[in-house]
Amino acid sequence: MADYDAIVVGSGVNGLACAALLAKGGWNVCVLERNDWFGGAIKTAEITEPGFKHDVFSAWHPLWVGGAAHAQLGDELARHGLEYLNTELPTGTLYPDGESAFLLRTADANAEELDRHHDGDGDAWRALLAEFFPNADLAFGVLGTELWSRHGAALGLKAVRRLGTRGAAEFGGRLLISARDWLQTTFTSARAHGLLAPWVLHTGLGPDAAASGYMAQVIAVAVQEGGMPVPRGGGAKLAGALVSYIREQGGTCETGAHVERVSSGGVRTSDGRRLTAERAVICNVTPTQLYGELLDGFDQRARGFRYGRSEMQIHFALSEPPRWEGDDRLGRTAIVHLTPGLDGVSRAVNEAERGLLPVQATVVVGQPLTMDQSRAPEGKGILWIQLQELPWQVKGDAAGELDVGDGTWTDELRERYADRIQARIGKHVPNLESSILARTVLSPADLWAANVNFVHGDPYGGSLALDQNFLWRAPHRTPVDGVWHIGASTHPGPGLGGGSGALVAAQLLEPPLGKRIAARFKR
Ligand SMILES: Cc1cc2nc3c(=O)[nH]c(=O)nc-3n(C[C@H](O)[C@H](O)[C@H](O)COP(=O)(O)OP(=O)(O)OC[C@H]3O[C@@H](n4cnc5c(N)ncnc54)[C@H](O)[C@@H]3O)c2cc1C
Repeated sequence: MADYDAIVVGSGVNGLACAALLAKGGWNVCVLERNDWFGGAIKTAEITEPGFKHDVFSAWHPLWVGGAAHAQLGDELARHGLEYLNTELPTGTLYPDGESAFLLRTADANAEELDRHHDGDGDAWRALLAEFFPNADLAFGVLGTELWSRHGAALGLKAVRRLGTRGAAEFGGRLLISARDWLQTTFTSARAHGLLAPWVLHTGLGPDAAASGYMAQVIAVAVQEGGMPVPRGGGAKLAGALVSYIREQGGTCETGAHVERVSSGGVRTSDGRRLTAERAVICNVTPTQLYGELLDGFDQRARGFRYGRSEMQIHFALSEPPRWEGDDRLGRTAIVHLTPGLDGVSRAVNEAERGLLPVQATVVVGQPLTMDQSRAPEGKGILWIQLQELPWQVKGDAAGELDVGDGTWTDELRERYADRIQARIGKHVPNLESSILARTVLSPADLWAANVNFVHGDPYGGSLALDQNFLWRAPHRTPVDGVWHIGASTHPGPGLGGGSGALVAAQLLEPPLGKRIAARFKR
């Protein structure tokens, strides 16, 4: 008798989603997490001042709320205390001249906003939606389907049936367009380009990368339709609800349990325990760890896997809410991007990829209190800042200001770079400096130290260049029978959707072929 039906190594959103779905399907599951919290990139903690609850890493949950795992588990998780809050002002971009542009929650509002910047861009928005929606199942299907399976083949067949062979090929080709090409051929106003270009950073890409135009469209539509939901009380409520549900179903979830070996029948932990699994061992890790450390004899499978750009987080506790200059919607917007625009994002990405600290990084300013006042004492402020254009090995400063020393992320380099970003935000938020109660900065090195999956401080589990994306991302099936791979390094990639966990759970819960055929004849 094995100890469990399935053992899940790692409690990232994919590990927890997979375990919860298997538990719902009646499996006896065990989640082993090496850190002292569940959730991996999900963690809510008072890291600045008492009473200020910061989402230390990830913060925004549109992918979870729009994903397959939430569709199957949402009601159960609500029972376990998970509640989502949302906004009519999900995102906007603030330009150096003080002008800003916003992405809103209805087609009419967005058309009107885009027309404000250039008459006619509103019609371009409506045309985009008219083209996108009839094939939204195909566009979203690419991200919600096990591509290397009969379901992937069925998705392709559906596209051919609907669009014809040439039409399907054209549709596939359009998925590969860069954000630059798509934005510049769709909208006239540079403000519209700068509104959407920063969003491709959140998919691990840059605006000149293949498929970044497709990702920008998917996000634009998803944000209009779904907003920018966050859990009341912080992201940890999602991880907490998943753990609580798994335990309620009889499952086991442990922290402080580092798995050092994996085989088809079970795992060995670093404190010498051997735990066995009858049906599956599911690893929520990077390919480097899976094939280089956990499994024997497959080192070559991770060779050549590349990690993406590094990132930094800055957290502010403020004595009062930030007072933005310019459009009064800025203070009520969940995520404000500071950038000169499409070329600004492109330049910063290019500088980071050449090993330089960007002159003008794209600054992601997250304002969780716009939705959830419970995160800070009354009348105070919180800012969640993300910088996604940084090198792991720093060769120099494109601005020629900072001494980067030997190029490693020292505390000194981290703080001086954060000072530059703070000054950038301060230009638009005059009360920023005077209201700072505390600032906590996490460099790429700090991020890696916090989670072994954030190799080089890459938040997205590996470069999402086309040769490592979609069909070419790390496969869920491993060469070892009964050992599965999930997490950001596998399809459909990073984000809080729990997509890979849901895809693997679905395959494990699928009845065997014989039963499927019998069921078909019965109908
Ligand atoms: C700073 C930051 C901000 C982000 N912001 C957002 C956001 O707002 N919205 C969004 O959708 N996405 C965001 N992302 C991306 C998203 O959070 C991640 O892609 C996603 O959470 C990764 O989930 P995962 O399942 O791959 O596992 P991870 O979150 O990487 O967790 C894996 C877990 O496995 C554990 N583990 C690894 N090896 C072992 C082992 N051998 N034994 C035991 N345990 C092990 C680790 O300790 C870790 O807890 C952000 C990412 C980062 C880093």
